[in-house]
Amino acid sequence: MEKWELNLRNDIVDLRVKDQETTLEEVIERHPMRIPKYYYDLIDQNDPNDPIKRISYPNAFEVDLMGDYDTSGEASNTKLPGLQHKYSTTALVLTTSTCFMYCRHCFRKRLVGLSSEEINSRLDETIKYLSGHEEINNVLLSGGDSFCLTDEQIEAYLKGLTEIKHLNYIRFGTRSLVVYPERITDNLVSILEKYSKKKEIVIVTQFNHPRELTQEALNAIKKIKNIGVSINNQAVVLKGVNDTPDVLAELLNGLNRVGINPYYVFQCRPVKAVKIGFQKTLLETYTLIQETRKKLDGLSKRFRLIMSHPRGKVEIVGVHGNQMIFRFHQAKDMSDHDKMFIREIDEKAQWLDNDLMPIE
Ligand code: SF4
Repeated sequence: MEKWELNLRNDIVDLRVKDQETTLEEVIERHPMRIPKYYYDLIDQNDPNDPIKRISYPNAFEVDLMGDYDTSGEASNTKLPGLQHKYSTTALVLTTSTCFMYCRHCFRKRLVGLSSEEINSRLDETIKYLSGHEEINNVLLSGGDSFCLTDEQIEAYLKGLTEIKHLNYIRFGTRSLVVYPERITDNLVSILEKYSKKKEIVIVTQFNHPRELTQEALNAIKKIKNIGVSINNQAVVLKGVNDTPDVLAELLNGLNRVGINPYYVFQCRPVKAVKIGFQKTLLETYTLIQETRKKLDGLSKRFRLIMSHPRGKVEIVGVHGNQMIFRFHQAKDMSDHDKMFIREIDEKAQWLDNDLMPIE
């Protein structure tokens, strides 16, 4: 076992919070708690509303199961266990159900830390599927956290995938940079460097708060950038965490400062045990983004504000009068490609379909 694995085992915080013990026990039973000590130490214990605590500690509101466990239709896109093919050019592999931290706002709460039923266990069949689908030009290795795999497992994926000629690039979805930067070991970096000479490798991560950009995180970011691997961030707008223009602007400007592309900002999904505590209304999110943009430079404004819908990635483009304008950024079916649509603003609406008219 490598040092990062041993340290992680020793570091995991599994607390029972005394004052609300019964509720939180129930929450943890359903959705496990796991916080690396490194991340736990970022919490300001004197602040009951600390944003780092909110996204890592179980919350009493998680007993509310309003919402859905599969908000973007992942089941319907699954071609083999752990292999999804929703957009023609992109394949998604669920490599593990384990994460360094079980984020309380996770949209795959149905599986993280719980079941490995949806996880890819047949690399050979996966490679065969990808090789037979020449329209696929990129693969996202996700989970769970793909860097929870051992170095040997990561290398096995890279070895197989870099042999597929029609792939342009391979992405790793990982929050290790945010919650456990120790995982970016010299050995892992040298594996990434070796295969990045054969195929472009991209890291996709999720910094949600400027306080997560610590010196340790910066050191890990630097190690990855030094080998020419780029890093993209997909933040989520989360109530009580990053929902003020000052905090969100500090995050987005901070990402650019350390060489991370802000890429996407997501509307929080209506996930069971998440929706009630983290999701803002569409209008609140849009207004937040508008105010935040005033504090950003050009590069920090590169992101798109996105909602992940079963039909595709829907961009919230803007507001005009009493209407909100949407556009398909990525469409599952080409008939939706680039399609724009408008909806009358409902101040309480948090999502399409549930709260606004479905897309026709
Ligand atoms: S690391 Fe990603 S998959 Fe894992 S709990 Fe956090 S958001 Fe979910």
